[in-house]
Amino acid sequence: MKYLEEKIRQFGVVKPGNVLKVDAFLNHQMDIDLFNKMGEEFARLFEGRPINKILTIEASGIGIACVVAQHFGNVPVVFAKKAKSINLDGEMYSTQIRSFTHQRVYDVIVAKKFLSPDDHILIIDDFLANGCAVDGLIDLIQSAGATIEGVGIAVEKGFQEGGKRIRERGIRLESLAIVESMNDETGEVVFREQ
Ligand code: 5GP
Repeated sequence: MKYLEEKIRQFGVVKPGNVLKVDAFLNHQMDIDLFNKMGEEFARLFEGRPINKILTIEASGIGIACVVAQHFGNVPVVFAKKAKSINLDGEMYSTQIRSFTHQRVYDVIVAKKFLSPDDHILIIDDFLANGCAVDGLIDLIQSAGATIEGVGIAVEKGFQEGGKRIRERGIRLESLAIVESMNDETGEVVFREQ
């Protein structure tokens, strides 16, 4: 999606450690016009899929998912919560996710009442790096016996392994911008042609 690539070129900042900072428009200050354009694009890419729910993870995925949901007929958005302590009372699906940006492992939960075998779910997130966040969300969906209709990502870092692994699992993955390489000294970001 050229418009997103332009935003990244204009406002993205490449940080050491393979981190692309996009807080000017994606995950701190949020550009709602951009989110709507992303929603339109996901709706086009996943047209014909019987999506009845969107699943994301707190915090950065929530804003995007809420705008995207409006392009899928206002389906509900569920976000997986990062739990401080898991109350294993049988009411929650839980999994563990290693955070790329914070270098720690989170327990992540979703209440069982919000995921069911009847659900056809689109996963939405801001970034795809090593794929741990998406793997965890897939795990939660599988625990519920729901169907994964696809994964929609704003920015995939194509030089990290997550995208390859998820596609190899046969899961439909659509990333609106795929960063092929980036340089924290020059600030240059190169995108994969799609
Ligand atoms: P993964 O689990 O795929 O390794 O990392 C995905 C998660 O880490 C995303 O939910 C996102 O919040 C965060 N993340 C990974 N790489 C970046 C990055 O380069 N920039 C920002 N802003 N967040 C990132």
